[in-house]
Amino acid sequence: MPEGHTIHRAARDHHRIFAGKQLSISSPQGRFAKGAALLSGQQCSCVEAFGKHLIYHFDHSDVLHIHLGLFGRIRKHKLPETEPKGAVRIRLVGDTHVIDINGPTICQILPRQEFLRLINRIGPDVLRSDANPDLVFNRISKSKAPIGRLIMDQSVMAGIGNIYRSEILWRQSIHPETPGNAIGRDMFDRIWNDAKELLAIGVKHNAIITTNTTPPAKSRYRERVNIFAKTICPTCKGMIRRFEISGRRAYLCETCQPLPG
Ligand SMILES: [Zn+2]
Repeated sequence: MPEGHTIHRAARDHHRIFAGKQLSISSPQGRFAKGAALLSGQQCSCVEAFGKHLIYHFDHSDVLHIHLGLFGRIRKHKLPETEPKGAVRIRLVGDTHVIDINGPTICQILPRQEFLRLINRIGPDVLRSDANPDLVFNRISKSKAPIGRLIMDQSVMAGIGNIYRSEILWRQSIHPETPGNAIGRDMFDRIWNDAKELLAIGVKHNAIITTNTTPPAKSRYRERVNIFAKTICPTCKGMIRRFEISGRRAYLCETCQPLPG
């Protein structure tokens, strides 16, 4: 599943190519034909991301809401238009580029009120400058749930996915099963700031990079992380343990990330 940095990067790219432009919108696959017809010809005013939700604003008050889910993907190419590849749910065409989105979990038009309800349900997003970390700390410090689950719960805090979860907790020497109410403000601030920094690097490079050394340009993402899907801890050379939290793979080094108490 794409993590928050992928969606923010897409929002940034799409804003640059579409903001202030009249878009021609279609649904080559047909499943979004009605919605596409309603939006086509409108001027796009802004594209932004809230967690993993991609939002296109138009001159009128409705918004286009996209969530890629597990299998959705976005392709961008320069004009001229080419034959759609696979089942393209929505194609957006500006005056320089074409964006195709295949297989999103959500592709819908939201009236303004529903859009506001949606963003109220999403927790503060580490990548947004308007995010308030105090709200996240309040939720976490009142919960007995493990921190490894809380930081990936998009209603608590938005943007962190499976890979960043393991990496951030390892970098901050925090055991993923530490209960939220055992996380002090200092520890929370370290998580928040590290997430903010790492996801911003992710947006810039359009890749997950959590190691402090600059990776070779062509290395695969696995070469750029510390413990995710690895076997040996880069710090203590001990074994990395694989386990599951809420059905998703997680990793930790029990030596570097001891449980408190
Ligand atoms: Zn270790």
